[in-house]
Formats: sequence, C-alpha cells, structure tokens
Amino acid sequence: MDTIEVRTKKREEIIDLTGEVSRIVAAAGRKDGACLVFVPHTTAGVTINENSDPDVKTDILMTLRAFVPDALPYAHAEGNSPAHVKASLVGSSVSVLVEEGRLQLGTWQGICLCEFDGPRTRQVWVKVI
Ligand code: ZN
Repeated sequence: MDTIEVRTKKREEIIDLTGEVSRIVAAAGRKDGACLVFVPHTTAGVTINENSDPDVKTDILMTLRAFVPDALPYAHAEGNSPAHVKASLVGSSVSVLVEEGRLQLGTWQGICLCEFDGPRTRQVWVKVI
C-alpha cells in the first residue's frame, strides 16, 4: 500500500490527486488489475469527477453545502457534523480499472480528495490489486 499525504489549506476543498495516483500505479509494475483509493478519515472523502474546469469543484462544494446546512441542531458535540455528513455522502473510496499499467479514467475524469473539515493533514491510501 502507498500513502499520499495531503496538507489541505481550506475548510472545504477538492484536490485533484490523479497525477500522484497515476505515478503509484505506474511504479506498481502491475499491467492489469484495479486501483483502490481509500481515505481513512471521517470528515474527508474521495470522488471521481471533472478535473478540467475548476468551477465544477466549486459547484460540488456549493451544492453539498446546500444539502447539508451548517445550522441544523446537530447532536455531535465536536461541532463538525456537516463535515461528517458530507464525507458519508461522497464516500471513502473509489476503484479504477488498470490496463497496461495505466488508470482507465474517462477523458475529463480525475480522482479527487474532498476536504470538509480542514485545514488538516490527510492521508490517502492507494493499492493496486
Ligand atoms: Zn466530529
């Protein structure tokens, strides 16, 4: 397993990790299989979406904020319940097929860490199987 360490800079942020994951896949030396990308956190997640127009990331964060208001009477005393809920909506892992040692992503797709309670240091675990 490889670990990508990411120092996030904002409270909410979507960070493209496609380059780092692609390098891990290339170095793994496995021609065909699948790449699992897992985020071991409860207030961050991982998703696959457009990595071309940065406005898409902005719109995803805006829409999640609309779905998950800050001002609900949350019970969790830590005060970061919206981040926990957003992380569950986005999910903790993605898997991508690997062919000829390369990630099989669509033209506009990228693998992105979703920070919902930053800034923090986050880990992303990557395994080619
Ligand atoms: Zn919490």
